[in-house]
Amino acid sequence: MISGTVFDIRRFSIHDGPGIRTTVFLKGCSLRCWWCHNPESQRPRPELILRPERCIVCGACVETCPVGAIRANGQGYVTDRAICDDCGACVAACYADAREMVGRTMTVSEVMAEVLRDTTFYEGEGGVTFSGGEPLLQPEFLLALLQACKARDLHTALDTCGYAPPEALERVREYVDLFLYDLKLMDGERHRRFTGADNDLILRNLERLAATGSRIIVRVPVIPGLNDDPADIAAIGEYVSALPAVERLDLLPYHRMGADKYARLARPDPLPPTDPPPAAQMAELQRQLEAYGLAVKIGG
Ligand code: SF4
Ligand code: SF4
Repeated sequence: MISGTVFDIRRFSIHDGPGIRTTVFLKGCSLRCWWCHNPESQRPRPELILRPERCIVCGACVETCPVGAIRANGQGYVTDRAICDDCGACVAACYADAREMVGRTMTVSEVMAEVLRDTTFYEGEGGVTFSGGEPLLQPEFLLALLQACKARDLHTALDTCGYAPPEALERVREYVDLFLYDLKLMDGERHRRFTGADNDLILRNLERLAATGSRIIVRVPVIPGLNDDPADIAAIGEYVSALPAVERLDLLPYHRMGADKYARLARPDPLPPTDPPPAAQMAELQRQLEAYGLAVKIGG
């Protein structure tokens, strides 16, 4: 039985494709976007996340840790992430739910059992969206899940950053009804700086996909100060409008939902404090992109 690592299954989603959907989040991504609102999705393995505000300082976790990663610091207990190997043993010991594992191994059957609970709500174009992380980094698992969905005639969407081997994309393509394809910046150097990787593979994958006639919605996160300059938006408009088969471009305004997750993961937040872009600016960017003949929506 094929299995993979899932970090969330969200039911009744209305922002991950058309209609009412079940979104399955696969863990692991090669990019490190400064604005990532799911930093717990980035590492491929299950990992420990802390909620120190819930800790009642009982010390129950200390004894359970096989590697001695938890110690008192005079005010409470701290976890040394350099020692912790994310075994999860302390989670069961914590009655206050101050410790939690993000990500678990699931079989295709287990995921499908969750998905099939929701099928009565998939009216019209509703269905299943695979998101992440980057789902294409678990290609066998993703392929098996998509095939299982299509065997039950469920509408499928794949939310991808495009930074994945072309072969993985090609293998799943025929089982995906709609691609939600992220595009962040056309400038390669700043793309590398703000995401940790060049955009060449992302652009080539998108061009290959568009040439196949697949249904594609391009999604552009709008991050103030990083990619919201009119020149950056113009470059995206020129590029996307020249592609065949792009149905729509969605502008996704930055939101701060991921900011506190970095602290729980004991990782530095790469993005300085940033406010969401004002509605008037989003409307202006929408007008700018529509001038390229694109259908543009604000929000997903
Ligand atoms: S996850 Fe495992 S290694 Fe990490 S603190 Fe908990 S018990 Fe220790
Ligand atoms: S078991 Fe939970 S509540 Fe108790 S000290 Fe450890 S983290 Fe805090």
